[in-house]
Amino acid sequence: MKINTGLMLLCATLLVHTKLGVAQEPAVDVMIDKVVAAYGGDKLLSLKGFKLTDKRQEFRNGQNHSPNETDLFYRHASVTVDLVKQRKEFRLIRGTVTSGRIFDGQNGFSINPTARVLTKSARINFATADSKRLLHLDTALVLMLKDARESAEYVGERSHHGVMYDVVKFKTKQYPQLTLFIDKHSGRIAQMQRPYRKTQYYNTYFSEFTQNKGVTYAATTYQTKAGKPLSMTTSRKFEINPDLAKAFKLPKGYSKPKEGIDFSTMTALKIADNLYQAGRYGGFSIFYDAGEYFIAAGGYYELGQRFAKIKALGAPDKPLKYLVVSHHHDDHLSGMKEAADLGVNFITVKDNIDSIREAAKVELADERFTIVENEGEYANGEVKVLDFDNEHAKHNLMTYFSSEKLLFTADMFIARDVVGLPKGEQSHLALKQKLNQAGFDVEQFAAAHSSRLLTMGDLDETIASIVPEECPAHWAICEK
Ligand SMILES: [Zn+2]
Repeated sequence: MKINTGLMLLCATLLVHTKLGVAQEPAVDVMIDKVVAAYGGDKLLSLKGFKLTDKRQEFRNGQNHSPNETDLFYRHASVTVDLVKQRKEFRLIRGTVTSGRIFDGQNGFSINPTARVLTKSARINFATADSKRLLHLDTALVLMLKDARESAEYVGERSHHGVMYDVVKFKTKQYPQLTLFIDKHSGRIAQMQRPYRKTQYYNTYFSEFTQNKGVTYAATTYQTKAGKPLSMTTSRKFEINPDLAKAFKLPKGYSKPKEGIDFSTMTALKIADNLYQAGRYGGFSIFYDAGEYFIAAGGYYELGQRFAKIKALGAPDKPLKYLVVSHHHDDHLSGMKEAADLGVNFITVKDNIDSIREAAKVELADERFTIVENEGEYANGEVKVLDFDNEHAKHNLMTYFSSEKLLFTADMFIARDVVGLPKGEQSHLALKQKLNQAGFDVEQFAAAHSSRLLTMGDLDETIASIVPEECPAHWAICEK
């Protein structure tokens, strides 16, 4: 809500004179001007561009290696912004994986330096090109607030750790609601809040304020999600009016992306005599007809719909007795409530029982769990389960259907393009070695994230294509 500044000042004066003893609402325009002044005033307003280079450590939520430990995850990024021509360039190292995005003023692109692939994307524009990175820069929030002045509303005063802040909320095209907690004295942003799910929040806290050429920024940030630690800055460089001559050039010699498979429709397929596959988007399951009942693998949400879909395809009407739970990551546990409702017995490792119970959100008696230690056999050995400790998770249960020599894995060997194989990684070699060591004779691979079946020949070819992750030499964030 925009309020006329002069009128508000007049009202404020009148209120003071009437001695009501009630703190009056400060004019939101006045407050925005105060924040702009605190971040450099004219120096901020005359900025042509800036570059943020940021190292963060992120605490993993839901995707840890073990359910009993929280892992740290490294994210090193730079964002170069041309405020005049509205261009943006984003570079990211996430763990060991390198990627980039460019919005050149007209078109958006994503960049994969290792595969040397350049993908044009309508979703990448000036607002989205930085992948929300600039939400961690208070100076960028001030620029967003200034530009969205018309939408700004004063919410009131809030106390945090005994200090009072003025709270202002505003909307931008990309972010439907951002709330800023502004230090009453300094005018700096102490906290930014945005919604997470319906009733929870992301909070970013700013501290260690410093300046570069008269423009203020916080050298340190800390972010929480639903009240739990999410990430923190470990180092930050903020450059004013950097050289933009080469910043938005697209890499040369890169190819176009391969055509992805359309996974938007729920499909079911009979892939062998007693074996069915069903799913859509990123969630697929395999169902094995073991005579009296079905055994399934693949625990994404819509498990119930997938099971119904194979019945509609003509699969016999038998109960789903067992579900092999691949690992404890939250996405793969998103179908546990449905599994519980279907009355399944969960095949899992001891370590993951608590995660399954939590995801199922219903009471599950101990009898509902069948524990695997290294290897398990079900349905007279027609179905075997093998536990694999790899870089992805402490326990990954792979499900082997011996009649078809088919192995179902969750996150290990996946192709989502119409043709071609996944990028070769060390984890593929580790998978091959594990299967050899366990004596599993695998001919086909099925996965939780794709309906496309792959072969052992495909795995060998993928392993042969392993190359180290490419971090381009001219990217400053690649320097160690
Ligand atoms: Zn996973």
